Amino acid sequence: MAAVSFHRTAASHTKIVATVGPASGSVESLRQLIEAGVDVFRINTAHGQPAEHAETIARIRQASAQVGQPVAVLVDLAGPKIRLGEIPGGQMQCQTGQRLRFVRSDGPLLPGELTTSYPQLMDDLQVGDRLMLADGTVGLVVRSRSADYVECEVVQPGILRSRQGVNLPGVKLSLPALSEQDVAAARWAAQQGADFLGLSFVRRPEDILMLREILGPYESSPQIVAKIEKPEALHHLEAIVRAADAVMVARGDLGVETDIAQIAIVQKQIVAACRRGRKPVIIATQMLESMTHEQLPTRAEATDVANAILDGADACMLSAETAVGEHPVAAVQMMHRIALATEPFDRPRVPAADESIAEGLDPVTEATARAAGQLAEQLGAKILLVATATGATALCLSKYRFRTPVWGASPSEAVLRRMCLYWGVVPLPDAPTENSIELLAYAIRKGRLLGHLQPGDRVVLLTGSDVTGRTHNMIQVHTVPASLDG
Ligand code: PGA
Ligand code: MN
Repeated sequence: MAAVSFHRTAASHTKIVATVGPASGSVESLRQLIEAGVDVFRINTAHGQPAEHAETIARIRQASAQVGQPVAVLVDLAGPKIRLGEIPGGQMQCQTGQRLRFVRSDGPLLPGELTTSYPQLMDDLQVGDRLMLADGTVGLVVRSRSADYVECEVVQPGILRSRQGVNLPGVKLSLPALSEQDVAAARWAAQQGADFLGLSFVRRPEDILMLREILGPYESSPQIVAKIEKPEALHHLEAIVRAADAVMVARGDLGVETDIAQIAIVQKQIVAACRRGRKPVIIATQMLESMTHEQLPTRAEATDVANAILDGADACMLSAETAVGEHPVAAVQMMHRIALATEPFDRPRVPAADESIAEGLDPVTEATARAAGQLAEQLGAKILLVATATGATALCLSKYRFRTPVWGASPSEAVLRRMCLYWGVVPLPDAPTENSIELLAYAIRKGRLLGHLQPGDRVVLLTGSDVTGRTHNMIQVHTVPASLDG
C-alpha cells in the first residue's frame, strides 16, 4: 500500500459499491472512480470469463495502490438464476398475444423458440405459471405443455435479448443453491483473494452454510454477502442475516419476485434486521439508473439514495451506471454528494439489548465500544481510533452509527479491505497495532498530515489493557498537541 493513505479528504460515512464493466475496466477509470468515492468494486461472474475477471481484479488492486486507498472486491455468483439462451440475431420483439415456445434443443432455433440455462425448467413449469423476463419487462403465461416444449403467451410485450434473466415469481424450483459453475467461481474468487462473495437468489440459511463449507480450506476466505431477492429469503430473514457476513437488498430481482408495491417496506425490514444482527447491508439496483445515460439523476433517484441512508444502509450500489453507463464518474460523485448532504440528518442508533439478534462479540468489548462512541459524540472528537484483529469491533461501532469517523487499524490487509464496506469506518493501513501509544501517535501524525486533525482536536482511542488480546476494555481521550512530534 502506498505511503500516503486515504487521500480522499471528505469521504462520506456511507460506502459506495460500483459494478465494474466495459465503462469502468481500465486502471485509469478505476482510479477516477476511487477518487470519486468508490469503496468496493463488484464483479459479476454471470458475464465474462475468469481470465478477464482476474485481470480486472489485478487492475483494481493497481488503481487502489496508486490512489493509496484500500478498496475491496466483491465477486457475485450467479446462484440459481435462470437466463435465456442465445436469441438468433441477439434480440426479438414480443407482441401481446404472441405465442413463444421453450424447447430443449441445443441446435438452431425456429422463430418464436427460446431456450434457458436450466433445462429442467421444462419439467417444473405448469399451465398457468407466470414467467417474467428481462427484469420483469416482458411477461409470459404458460398455456400448454408437451414432452418437447412449453408454450407460453405474451401478456406483457417488450424486447427480449440473449442471456437476460428469467424470473418465476411464486414458482418453487428444484434448482440447487449453487451450480457447478458457482462452486468453481467461488473457489476461483477465494484463490484470487476476493474480499466479498455475493450469493444470488439465497433462499435459506443453509445456502450460505454450503458456500462457507466450500470456502473453508482457503486461507483468507471471502466474506459472504447474502443477496436477498426471493420471497423465500424473506421468510428466513433473521437466520440468513445471522449466517451471512453481509447482506444485499437486491432490488432488481426482488422487485420481480415479490410485489414491487412492497419494495420500500421490505427494504426497511431487511435493513432493520441487519442492524439487529450487526451485519453490513448494501442497497442495490436502479439507485441512480437514469445516470446510465443522463448527466443528472431524477428527483426520485436522488431521494431514494438519501432515504436508503436514513433507513440505515451501510452502502449504496451502482450497477449499470458504472458498468455500462455513459457517466460512471459523475454517478459516483452524485451518490457521494447525496450521502454528504444526508448524513448530518442521520442519528446514532444503539439497539436495546432485547432487540439484538447479533452473536459473537465479547459483551465487555460491546459495552466499551458503545461507551467510546457516546464519549466521542459528546466531546465532538474528530476520530474514534480502534485496532481490530477481525474487524468485528469496527463493525460493532459502525452499526451504532455514531457520527465520529472510526479509524480502523489492523495488521491484516484482508481486514482493512473488509472495513471498506463498514459505514463510517476508515481503514487505516500500515498502522502499528501492537502498542496503543504508537498507534495513537501514528494516527495523529497521519491525521495532521492529511488535514483531518488540528491542534486541540480530540481523538478517542478504544483499546484493551492486554493490547494483543481481543477484548477492548479501555477508552482514552487524547488532545492533539501543537507540534507534530508532541
Ligand atoms: P444482480 O443483483 O444485478 O446480480 O441481478 C442485484 C439485483 O438483483 O438487484
Ligand atoms: Mn439479482
